[in-house]
Amino acid sequence: MEPAETTTAREAAMPLEIAREAPVFDIAPEEELLYSLSADGRRKFMHPVIHKGRYWRIRRAIAYVLAAVFLGLPHVWVGGHPAVMFDIANRRSHVFGATFYPTDTLILVSLGFGVIVTVFFVASAFGRMWCGYSCPQTVWLEFFFRPIEAFLEGGPYKQRKLDNAPWSTRKVAIKTAKWAAWTALALLMSTTFVAYFTGWGPLVRGVATNPLAWAGPLFAIALVTAAIVFDFGWFRDQMCTIACPYGRLQNVLSDEDTILVAYDEKRGDPKVKLKDRVEGVRAGDCIDCRACVNACPTGTDIRRGLQPECIGTAQCIDACNEVMTAQRKPIGLIRYTSEREQKGGARRLWRPRTLAYLALMAVAWGTLGTLVLTRGEALVEIVRGGREAYRLLPGGEVANQQRVRVTNQVAETQRITIELLHPAGARLIVAESPIVVAPNAVTTVNVVTTVPRSAFNDGQVTARYLVRSDRGFRKEMEFMLLGPFGGTGGRP
Ligand code: SF4
Ligand code: SF4
Repeated sequence: MEPAETTTAREAAMPLEIAREAPVFDIAPEEELLYSLSADGRRKFMHPVIHKGRYWRIRRAIAYVLAAVFLGLPHVWVGGHPAVMFDIANRRSHVFGATFYPTDTLILVSLGFGVIVTVFFVASAFGRMWCGYSCPQTVWLEFFFRPIEAFLEGGPYKQRKLDNAPWSTRKVAIKTAKWAAWTALALLMSTTFVAYFTGWGPLVRGVATNPLAWAGPLFAIALVTAAIVFDFGWFRDQMCTIACPYGRLQNVLSDEDTILVAYDEKRGDPKVKLKDRVEGVRAGDCIDCRACVNACPTGTDIRRGLQPECIGTAQCIDACNEVMTAQRKPIGLIRYTSEREQKGGARRLWRPRTLAYLALMAVAWGTLGTLVLTRGEALVEIVRGGREAYRLLPGGEVANQQRVRVTNQVAETQRITIELLHPAGARLIVAESPIVVAPNAVTTVNVVTTVPRSAFNDGQVTARYLVRSDRGFRKEMEFMLLGPFGGTGGRP
């Protein structure tokens, strides 16, 4: 195996030589094929040249933080539970010490709405920055899977050469090592992903001691590992250009003021190669070196204008800035801008569309915050119990069977008592009082409410209960009791 060569060690030092002598990709022909497709429909694999410029360094820092958060969260405990865990088996989720249940409908609705309008805002204001800077696809592919490939196979030219070389012992060894390393990383990622649903400790212990009982999670790990290896090892840019719905959404959410990566045509054109720059030839700043194209993970030639294949990685900016610096010309021939700015106007972040999204975000996240902060310490539900709607007792009273379900929403045990406030003359029998509910647990008890027959009006009467806990929780609740027609509704 040849010693590893980082992509940039050789290439970044000599961007112009590389650009002149070794163009990697053919740009799409005029028939407007995808850049990753050959004219005969075959897939062209991208081996982008990495330029460790300003934006690449920012993206790498964000990628490392995001990966650390993803891998680390299942190991951080808050309030006796993993910091974030979606405990499907027990139908609850733990989020930084708070426990949520499927009954937290408003919270879930606010969260979903908040996420949707935030995506709209980000896409409308910042274009595909999400894709380039924080999408898991970009984070893991560009900063973990590709570096492993570069470590084992060398830079993009060596990768391409190896791909095209006939199979040999060396090629088999390198390819096996690469796919094995990718699979190991994918296994770590998928195990972490499943641990968000099972807890890391139980998962690892369970699989080690009784794998058969953990067949479900094991199957999930295998499936996710396969999907990750397929995606980051082979599918790659195709995910962004043909599969991801966010890219399609981008087209309807962007406008003239949306930030995008663009080539400055006025300054750059006409594009003339260095070797063709002779006295009398009119030439713009673009030396047609194709470093920007060779750097692009989707193979896009940004000089042809805004295209849906551009996922906003800013690799072309870093590449072109290197070229401009080497040419002693101002950087920014490719830069962040907006369509309006390109036409000579001023870039506007705040416009009716972004302000509207911001207002909706404030409503959604504000509602979510209020709901979480004012959430009761317990959730109490009263539902009808037994098979009969009601039972007439020998003494002339009417009994309604009910079930009281108490969800303890704090990390301490609570003792819950229930009192009957209305109607007058009614009695309440609780199977267990106080109802002791363990931290973040759910307890259901049977109760019977007995009401004088005279209290019923048209076969029903509303009973009112007071539920209290030893922690100060207090809530009045109403429940419709059923009974025979012919009562007086409580009137004398
Ligand atoms: S835009 Fe910049 S990097 Fe791209 S071909 Fe022109 S000079 Fe080279
Ligand atoms: S065109 Fe530039 S910003 Fe767009 S994906 Fe390619 S390298 Fe990234």
